[in-house]
Amino acid sequence: MGRISDAGGDIMIEVKEPKRIPLIGSLQGMYTVFKHLFKKPITVQYPEEKAYTPARFKFRIFLSMDDCVGCTLCEQVCPNLSIRMIVVERNNPHNKRNLYPQVNFGTCTVCRNCEEICPTEAIYLTHELETARTRNNFFYSPEELEKTESEVKK
Ligand code: SF4
Ligand code: SF4
Repeated sequence: MGRISDAGGDIMIEVKEPKRIPLIGSLQGMYTVFKHLFKKPITVQYPEEKAYTPARFKFRIFLSMDDCVGCTLCEQVCPNLSIRMIVVERNNPHNKRNLYPQVNFGTCTVCRNCEEICPTEAIYLTHELETARTRNNFFYSPEELEKTESEVKK
């Protein structure tokens, strides 16, 4: 409710606060707390307990070095420059320049461009998500990308 009056050129606005019924807000809050007392908690004691991840969830990139032909397409389409081609001496007749992708998981935004562009399906995203490491970088060499997360030295 409001009232506007003109007193000698000055405009006065009187605003009336709506009437509030005491305790209603407190009771509503108590009801909300009470409702959740008997519900299963949604918090997860990670890492002892594993968080639910949907079946289609993808994160950790895997590379099959035998299938990689060193075309550099994955490096070119990566929007974050997370992929850098490096030389790894390896007896692979399909990859004469010995070029393989290394991935920086610190900047990868899981866009899947690299997976989609790869002509030989050598690089793809997997269901794994725990890429935390003790050393101060998130670069995965081609050899590390070939291993599962539990096999990689952190
Ligand atoms: S998923 Fe996207 S951001 Fe991550 S390495 Fe591949 S192209 Fe780059
Ligand atoms: S992983 Fe695929 S796209 Fe990337 S260099 Fe190898 S073959 Fe080319």
